[in-house]
Amino acid sequence: MDFRLSPEQAAFQEEVAGFIEHELPVGWDEEQGSLAERMDVERAVMRRLAARRWLALPWPKEYGGAGASPVQQLLFNEQMAYHRVPGSVNMGVAWVGPVVILYGRADQKQQYLSRIADGTDIWCTLYSEPGAGSDLAAMQTRAVRDGDEYVINGQKIWTTFGHYADWGWLAARTDPAAPKHKGLSTFAVKMDSPGITVRPLINMAGGHEFNEIFFQDVRVPVSQMVGEENRGWYNVAVGLDFERSSIGATSSARRTVDELVAFLRGRGGMDPAVRHRLAEQAIGVQLLRTMAYYIASEQERTGLAPTREAQMAKLFGAELQQKVALTGIQILGMTGQAAKPGTPALALHYGLLRSVANTIEGGTSEIQRSVIASRGLGLPRE
Ligand SMILES: Cc1cc2nc3c(=O)[nH]c(=O)nc-3n(C[C@H](O)[C@H](O)[C@H](O)COP(=O)(O)OP(=O)(O)OC[C@H]3O[C@@H](n4cnc5c(N)ncnc54)[C@H](O)[C@@H]3O)c2cc1C
Repeated sequence: MDFRLSPEQAAFQEEVAGFIEHELPVGWDEEQGSLAERMDVERAVMRRLAARRWLALPWPKEYGGAGASPVQQLLFNEQMAYHRVPGSVNMGVAWVGPVVILYGRADQKQQYLSRIADGTDIWCTLYSEPGAGSDLAAMQTRAVRDGDEYVINGQKIWTTFGHYADWGWLAARTDPAAPKHKGLSTFAVKMDSPGITVRPLINMAGGHEFNEIFFQDVRVPVSQMVGEENRGWYNVAVGLDFERSSIGATSSARRTVDELVAFLRGRGGMDPAVRHRLAEQAIGVQLLRTMAYYIASEQERTGLAPTREAQMAKLFGAELQQKVALTGIQILGMTGQAAKPGTPALALHYGLLRSVANTIEGGTSEIQRSVIASRGLGLPRE
C-alpha cells in the first residue's frame, strides 16, 4: 500500500495547478453575467483545455485526447472541481465520444470526435422522458424508418444544456414490439433540426440548466444512427471506462468546508455544536477523498472501476454535498439570509438549493441504495 503519487503524477498535478492559476481566460471565475456571457467564458475555457488536449483527456491520442489514465483524470478533475472551473461537465467527452469510438463508423468518428475534443461542439443527452427516469428503458420517443431517414416523435425532459447544445445524443425506440431494453437505438441529432422545440425548465435555485425538448416529425438521416439498430441500450451503458471516483463531489464539498473554516477562524467564542458539525463534515470529505483515490487507483491497476465502491462513492458524495451546504447555511445564521452576489452566503444558498438535485441526477439515491444492496452486497430483492 502506497498512498503517495508517483513523480510523474505529482508533476501533472502541478501542471494542472499552474494552468488554473495562469492560463484561464480573464473573468472565468466571475459568477455574474447573462447566460450568453457565461457560455462565452465556458467555451473559451474549453478551447484552452483543448489546446492542451485536456478537454477529452481520457480519449486516445488519435481522437484528440491525451490517453490519460484514471489516476491522471482524477488529479485533473479534482482540481477543476475544487477551483470551480466552468466547462468541466462535458457529455460529449463523457459518453458520446466513447460510444462513437467503440461502435461508430469511420465517417462518424471523423465528423463528431475532433469537434468534441477541440471544444467546437457541445452535446446534450436526450434520455429521460416524463414517464422514463429511473426506469429509463421505458422510454417511448419513437424513431420510425422512412427511406434514408428516421422520423422522430416524442418528448424528452431534464435535458441539461439543451438550450445551447449543438448536438443531441438521443435514445429512441425503433422496435416497439421488442422487450423494452431491446428496441432502442441511439442517434446524433442536430439541435437546430426543424421540428425540435426547446422549452426551459428553471430549477429551484433559479438557474436554467435543463429543458423539455419536443420532437415533432424531426427527420434524422440514417447515417446519424450510431451503432446497430435496436442495440442502443448497450450504448447508453457505455462511458464506464472513465474515472468513476466521484472526485468532483468530494472536491466541491471540500472547497465549501475550507471556505467555512476560513470564515469562522479567528472569530472566537464558537458554539461547540457548530464546531462539531464542521468537524463531522470534514471527516466525510476526507473519507470520500480516500475512497475516490482508492477507486481510481484500482481502476488503473485492474482496468475496471470497482463498481460497488464507485456506486457507494456516488451516493455518499451526493448526500455529503447536501449535508455540507446545509451545515454552511446553519453556521452563517442571519448572515446566511442576507445573501448578496459575491458573498460566501450566496454561493452557499445556491449550493444548498442546487444540491437537492445531486441525489436525483445520474440515478437517484434510492436506486443507488437498491443496486448496492442487491448487486454489491448480494442481498435478495424485495
Ligand atoms: C440536475 C439534473 C440534470 C439532469 N440532466 C439530464 C440530462 O441531461 N439528460 C437526461 O436524459 N436526463 C437528465 N436528468 C434526469 C435524471 O436522470 C432523472 O431525473 C433521474 O434518472 C430520476 O428520474 P425521474 O426524475 O423520472 O424520477 P422517477 O424515476 O420518477 O423517481 C421518482 C422517485 O421515486 C423513486 N423511485 C423510482 N423507482 C424506484 C424504485 N424502483 N425503488 C425505489 N424508489 C424508486 C426515485 O428514487 C425518486 O425518489 C437530470 C436530472 C437532474 C436532477
